Amino acid sequence: MGKVYLTGAGPGDIELLTVKALRLVQEADVIIYDRLANPDILKEAKNGCEFIYVGKEDSHHTLPQEEINQVIYESALQYETVVRLKGGDPLVFGRGGEEAIYLNERGIKFEFIPGITSAIAVPEYAGIPVTHRGITVSFRVVTGHESRNKEYSQIPWDNYKTDDTIVFLMGLHRLKHISKKLIEIGKSKDYPIAVISRGTTKDAKTVVGTLENIYEKAKDLPTPALIVVGEVVNLREQLSWFE
Ligand code: SAH
Repeated sequence: MGKVYLTGAGPGDIELLTVKALRLVQEADVIIYDRLANPDILKEAKNGCEFIYVGKEDSHHTLPQEEINQVIYESALQYETVVRLKGGDPLVFGRGGEEAIYLNERGIKFEFIPGITSAIAVPEYAGIPVTHRGITVSFRVVTGHESRNKEYSQIPWDNYKTDDTIVFLMGLHRLKHISKKLIEIGKSKDYPIAVISRGTTKDAKTVVGTLENIYEKAKDLPTPALIVVGEVVNLREQLSWFE
């Protein structure tokens, strides 16, 4: 019986893969990977390594999670070293915890290999620090993808009245709703917001605006994209370095 390494692939730039993740990719007998994991990482695998794509696209999953769990489990029965490669960090909206519970319940050993999350690195490449002395003392990472159940909203909007930096993942398709909600809870229409598409890659594109105009400016950006809200967005004027 093999062991499963729930491994973070980093946010896009292949050089943001950790040394540990790279070693496991090189040792893997099988790599089960997502759409968000940079496919160039697979070139590092040894000859004969098997690749299984279980791509997920933001809200619509190519494979249901239960099937992905099963693929990982069956791979562990068959191979020694199983790398489950996920974009960013495996436990930041990555469902790595669910996969580990599934494996644990079936007696399969696993390890988490943290990855650099897009939530921090993508704003960083855009010249937006998630915290900055004198501007904000904390940041939140929130899913923009709320439950389809209209009875309740999973996002506790009233908690977001503070000046924390807010990073929304999986939120581009909800950009209009998110900016409207933030105005509703009392943020000014001029409050700074940025949308960053394909961050840390050669296709990176950042659009900066206000809660009032961001939807019109950024709605057509390609995914993956994340949203940063907060005064730290203004620092981009001085800190932009990558694009
Ligand atoms: N586990 C991942 C996040 C998974 S949720 C991590 O730690 O980064 C997927 C969301 O991450 C996307 O919808 C998008 O909002 C964000 N994302 C991932 N890679 C990105 C990139 N290169 N540029 C912009 N957003 C990205």
